[in-house]
Amino acid sequence: MLSVDAEKSAPGMISIAGEAETIVEHMLNGMTYCRMLFEDGQPRDFIYLYTNPAFESLTGLSGVIGKRVTDVIPDIHESNPLLFEIFGRVARGGEPEAFETHVEALGMWFSVTVYSPRPEHFVAVFDVITERKRAERELLLANERLLLAQRTAGAGVWDWDILKGTLTWSDELTHLFGLNPATAVATFDTWRNVVHPDDVQRAEEVIMASLRDHAPLFNEYRIVLPTGAVRWIDAFGDATYDADGNVQRMIGICIDVTERKKAEAQIEFLAHHDHLTQLPNRFVAMERLKMAMAYADRAHENVALLFLDLDRFKPINDSLGHTVGDLLLVEVARRLQACLRETDTVSRQGGDEFLVILTHIHDLAAVTGSAAKIVAALAAPYEIDGHVLEATVSVGLAIYPNDAREPETLMQRADTAMYHAKDSGGNDYTFFSEQMNAAVALAHAIRGELRQALAEGEFELHFQPQHDLASGRVVGAEALLRWHSPRRGLVLPGEFISIAEDCGLIVPIGDWVLQEACRQAVRWQQAGLPELTVAVNLSAIQLRRGNLQQSVVRALGAAGLAPALLELELTESILIMEAENALEAVRNLKSLGIRFAIDDFGTGYSSLAYLKRFPIDRLKIAQTFVKDMDTNPEDAAIVHGIIQMARALKLKTLAEGIETEDTIEHLRLHHCDEAQGDHFSKPLPAEEFTHYLLAAA
Ligand code: C2E
Ligand code: MG
Ligand code: MG
Repeated sequence: MLSVDAEKSAPGMISIAGEAETIVEHMLNGMTYCRMLFEDGQPRDFIYLYTNPAFESLTGLSGVIGKRVTDVIPDIHESNPLLFEIFGRVARGGEPEAFETHVEALGMWFSVTVYSPRPEHFVAVFDVITERKRAERELLLANERLLLAQRTAGAGVWDWDILKGTLTWSDELTHLFGLNPATAVATFDTWRNVVHPDDVQRAEEVIMASLRDHAPLFNEYRIVLPTGAVRWIDAFGDATYDADGNVQRMIGICIDVTERKKAEAQIEFLAHHDHLTQLPNRFVAMERLKMAMAYADRAHENVALLFLDLDRFKPINDSLGHTVGDLLLVEVARRLQACLRETDTVSRQGGDEFLVILTHIHDLAAVTGSAAKIVAALAAPYEIDGHVLEATVSVGLAIYPNDAREPETLMQRADTAMYHAKDSGGNDYTFFSEQMNAAVALAHAIRGELRQALAEGEFELHFQPQHDLASGRVVGAEALLRWHSPRRGLVLPGEFISIAEDCGLIVPIGDWVLQEACRQAVRWQQAGLPELTVAVNLSAIQLRRGNLQQSVVRALGAAGLAPALLELELTESILIMEAENALEAVRNLKSLGIRFAIDDFGTGYSSLAYLKRFPIDRLKIAQTFVKDMDTNPEDAAIVHGIIQMARALKLKTLAEGIETEDTIEHLRLHHCDEAQGDHFSKPLPAEEFTHYLLAAA
C-alpha cells in the first residue's frame, strides 16, 4: 500500500519512501497527490502536493507542485465542475471513485481513480484515454448512421447464428414482411411463409450457394404480404468464418425494391414498345426476326415478312389533326393484332408503317391468306372521333430464306414490294420479285445520274406538231423531254420523270424545260415561221414544291415570249390532288394570258366539277381511246362523248396518238378540233421540227 507522509517534507512538498517511491516513479499511469481547498464548504480548488513523472509526460504540465489547479488551468472550475464535485466528495472522506472526464483546456480524455489517504486530501491515478474515446465515438456515430440509413432505406437487419441455428431480425424487417411485431417470431419457417411460393426454393438455393462458395449473399425474391400484395425484396448478407473456414454466422439486410422493379419494368417496356400503339418497336421486331430466322433454319420452315404502309394516312393526319391520326393508328394496330396468331409479331416501325412477321410458314398459300386478311381488315371503314374514315394499306412481302438471308436485306425487299403495291394503287399486297430489285437498283442509279445531267447539259427538247384538223395547219408544238445519257443513250421521259419527281429534281428540270421551250418558240418567231403555241408538261411536284408562277413568268420574260403562246399541260390527277395549290397558281397565270390544257383526258377522274373550277382552254383526249377508236366502238363512244362535252363547255379538243388517216377522218366527222400523233410526225429535235414547219407551210 502506498503511504504518503506529507508532514515530513517542507510545506507544499512531500516525499515518498522506499520501494513505493520506485513503483510510483516508474508506473505508466499518471498520479497526483493534492489538497482540496473548500470555500463556504464547497470544493473550490486544489493544490498539487506531488506528481509522478508520468503525470508530466501524459498531461504535458510541468512545475505544478505547490500551485493551485486554477493557476495551472484557469477555467477548469467552469469547464469541469464535476471534477471538483467528485474530488471534493472523496477528499471529505468518501469512498474511492472511478470516472472518466474530458479536460477541454488539454483537449484530452482521462480515466481517473481517486481515493483519500487523509482528510481534505486525495490521490488521483489516471490514464489518458483520448484515442479510445475517439474510436468509441466514431463507432457510435457509425452505428447511428447505419441505423439511420437502414431506417431511411427501409432496410431490415437479420442475424443468423448458424452454429446455434437461431435467427433474429430487426423491427424494420418485421415491418417489411408485413408481420405483426407482437406475435412474429424470427424463424426460417416464418421467412418461408412470407416468401412467394414460386420463389422459396430458388431463394434457399441462393443462400446455400453463398455459404458453400464463401461468397457474399445477394438474393432477390418476391414476398406476399398478408394483404395479398406482392413486393420485391433484395437481400444482402455476409458470413463470418472461424480459423478453419467453418461458417459461424451470417448477417445482412433486406430492402424493399418494389418501386425500383416497377420503374425498371416501365423503362424496359418503353425501350421495347411503341408508346402510341403499345406494339413492340422496330428494335424488338428486328430481334424477333432474327430469332424466327434461326428457328426456321432448324425446322426447315419459312418466315414471311410483311411491310405495311397506310395509303392515305398523311391527308387524314393533315386535315383532321394528329389526335385523329393517332387514334387511327391505334385502331390499325388493334386490327392487325386481331388478324394474327400468338406466334406472329406485329410491330410499328414509325409513322404509318408497320411490320408483321409470320412464323412457321410451310406454304405460300398461308402467307397469301394472311396478307389478304390484313388488307381486308384494314380496308373496312374506321369510326374515329365522329369521323368515318377510309384508310387502306399497301403490303409488301418478302420470304426468308427465298428472297434474302440477311434480316436487313429481307426488310429492304419487303419495303420494295410495298412500294410496288402502292404504285399499283394500294389496298393490296405484293410479293417481292427479283425484277423489282433490279428496278430499284436502276432507279437508284438513275437518281444519281440525273443530278449530273442538268449541269452537264444532257437534256434536250423534242417537239411534236399539233395540227388543226379543219385547215391541216400546224398550230402548236408539244415540248417533250429527252435525256442523252452518256451511259444509257437516249432515255425517254417514262424512264426518268417519276424518279426525278421522287427526289424533287423535277423542279429544276421542269424550270429548264419551261425556259428552253419559250426560247425555242421565240427562235421560230424570229425565223419568220407561222405563229404557233408551245405546250409544256407540268408535274404535280412543280405545283407542290416549286414556285411555279415565278418560274413561268421568268421563263417568258427571259425569252421574250408572249404569254398567249405558252400552253401548260396539267393532268386530271394534279387538279384533283393538288386542288388547293393548283387553283391559285392556275388562275394567276391564266390572268396573264397563259393557256391551259388537260393532258390524257379520260384516263383519270374526268370530273366535271374541276372543269368548271379551273379556267381550262383545251382537253387532250388520251391516246388509249384514240388509238383503238376505229376498231373498238366503246373507245369511239368515249371519244365522241368527250368531244360533245367539251363543245358544251366551250373547250377545244385535241386527240393524241393519231397513227392512221382513218382516225383523222373519224375525228373530223365528230368535230374534234386538233390532233397530234406519229401519223403527222414523231416528236422531233428543234431543227428538224423547223424543216417540218417549212414543209407543212
Ligand atoms: P404526254 O404528255 O401524253 O406526251 C405524249 C406522249 O405520247 C409522248 O411520249 C409522245 O412521244 C407519245 N406519242 C405521240 N404520238 C404518238 C403516237 O402516235 N403513238 C404512240 N404510241 N405514242 C405517241 P414521250 O415523249 O415518251 O413522253 C411521255 C410522257 O412523259 C408525256 O406524255 C408526259 O406526260 C411526260 N413528259 C414528257 N416531257 C415532259 C416534261 O418536260 N415534263 C414533264 N413533267 N413530263 C414530261
Ligand atoms: Mg403532254
Ligand atoms: Mg398526253
